[in-house]
Amino acid sequence: MVITRRRLLGSAIGALACSGSVRRVWAATEVALAGGRLLSLSDGALVLPESFVLGGLPEEEARALLAAAGVSGPELRVPCNVALWQSEDRTVLFDTGAGPDFMPSTGHLLDALGAAGIDPGAITHVVFTHGHPDHLWGVLDEFDEPLFANARHLMGRVERDYWLDPATADSIGPDRQFFVAGAARRLGVLGDLVETFEDGDSLLTGLVAQATPGHTPGHMAFRLGEGDDALTVVGDAIPNASIALARPHWELASDQDPALAAASRTALLADLAARGQPVIAFHFPEGGIGRIEAAEEGYAFVPAP
Ligand SMILES: [Zn+2]
Repeated sequence: MVITRRRLLGSAIGALACSGSVRRVWAATEVALAGGRLLSLSDGALVLPESFVLGGLPEEEARALLAAAGVSGPELRVPCNVALWQSEDRTVLFDTGAGPDFMPSTGHLLDALGAAGIDPGAITHVVFTHGHPDHLWGVLDEFDEPLFANARHLMGRVERDYWLDPATADSIGPDRQFFVAGAARRLGVLGDLVETFEDGDSLLTGLVAQATPGHTPGHMAFRLGEGDDALTVVGDAIPNASIALARPHWELASDQDPALAAASRTALLADLAARGQPVIAFHFPEGGIGRIEAAEEGYAFVPAP
């Protein structure tokens, strides 16, 4: 038998998943959806200076909102929840986590998949919300090949073109230039493997793209399922469960176009609260699956029980 690298990787994941001594750095939560299940798989957590979140906001009020959401300290830990939708004929991964090259506290998606008993080779579709490092950089393996080797890879056309545009490195600002290098390199390796789509496109039965620009120019949310049996993958259109919910109209430094992002966010939140259907949000606590409810001021996140 020829032992391929892919098989070795699979075995290593299996060993990790079975070993009782492995520290549980990942987590998975799950809800039933459209004849299948929706899993939240932890890629780990970003560790960010408080100033990154507070930048440009009324500091006292913003810090009070963070504290009310149980978030405090000079360094904030921000969870990263990768959504996986599995039904009879498909296993769809929304974003690929950060991989090994971004932060030591992220890049744990493979452990989470292993623990859930899912081989990377079984992923049929990889669908990107946007091209930020914590969403895209996990797409290649340590040999610079697609980690999800049997999957179709899909990204919004506007988003893909933005990261591949040579002018982006000059316009994005010094703090984010390494985002451009990292995204362009990975999208370059993937090349024609990445299929693009537009706002409103149906990517699969029961999977519709919804443009939510501002966090990045081509950011997409996704509606999964139909009627009462539906869920929205919001990505970073709602980038946290504290300030972005309590004061959705505030312009956040973490958004590339803060005014456009605030407009996308307020419209999306009003729609989600009106429909009462569940969401999964990439940076929300407790796995990020739950409902958005209108609050006295702004909105609240009610995690799935
Ligand atoms: Zn982002």
